[in-house]
Amino acid sequence: MNRKTFLKNSAILGAGLGLGGFLPYSQALGGAQNRVTILHTNDTHARIEPFSDSAPRYAGMGGVARRATLIRQLRAENPDSLLLDAGDVFQGTPYFNKFNGALDFEVMSKMGYDAVTIGNHEFDNEVRGFEEVMGKARFPFVSTNYDFGTTRMGLRVHKFLIRQVDGVKIGIFGLGVAFENLVLPHLHRGVTYLDPVEVAADTTAHLKGYHRCDMVICLSHIGYRYNDNRVSDRVVAQQVDGIDLIIGGHTHTFMPEPELFEKPDGSRTWVSQVGFAGIVLGRLDFYFDRGKQIAAVRNHNYPVTDGGPDSGTYAELISRISADGGAASV
Ligand SMILES: [Zn+2]
Repeated sequence: MNRKTFLKNSAILGAGLGLGGFLPYSQALGGAQNRVTILHTNDTHARIEPFSDSAPRYAGMGGVARRATLIRQLRAENPDSLLLDAGDVFQGTPYFNKFNGALDFEVMSKMGYDAVTIGNHEFDNEVRGFEEVMGKARFPFVSTNYDFGTTRMGLRVHKFLIRQVDGVKIGIFGLGVAFENLVLPHLHRGVTYLDPVEVAADTTAHLKGYHRCDMVICLSHIGYRYNDNRVSDRVVAQQVDGIDLIIGGHTHTFMPEPELFEKPDGSRTWVSQVGFAGIVLGRLDFYFDRGKQIAAVRNHNYPVTDGGPDSGTYAELISRISADGGAASV
């Protein structure tokens, strides 16, 4: 990114995300030693092709070819990046009925995904259905609150991952949604759901304590928020210490910008989610100081259209979606 663009984005950040105690970009730039770019998607739901030009909503948006191009451009700009997905790759278009998720895993492998968590729809063809196509994924799956028992699925799903990016040690774990009223018992046979808050607290403490991770990311498919007492990303952000970033999914929430949760002890958790169907690519840049502490965070989400990174703005997309009455849900 050239300096002019950077300063423009800095101003945006200063006006929006800079509130809440974060350093304005312009200040962070001088002292920042390392920058890690997090690119993210969620609930892509077998959307291999863009929505058709005559679609009532999201006309002409999305598609894996454009997403791949955008990812390539952004990674060329900063190779110190992670590409993450918060689950529900399966189900949603005839591509799933024909390929059972194998095609999605192949294209996501080509795009260079670094970690993907397990959504409820990953069980749509039973555990065996996932096992039949998981060999097509050349990226690791991560899920921490599902106990996979003796299933073959469990052999491919990590409890957590640790990655070094630009000298920053990053721990990644995953949370899946409760099966009750969502995934029929025979579909998830052999896989058990565990309390996400407890698991998140234990895993984060382990990653930051024992493994000395500088940053912890939670890939979550439990949903952004609910009106009842179900556990959500907001609940985890409020109740668990030490998670720096929650990349969410499941509720198909088009967040206008990431939400920042600050604890009384000064620790901070960012929560982001970018709708569904791969029509938005989320991006957060984390800047680290000399002590590998997060000094600043910048956010920029990209609508996936055919014009590349500069076509349209996320704000325009959000206002269009709001005018349409909110996100569709699957
Ligand atoms: Zn879901």
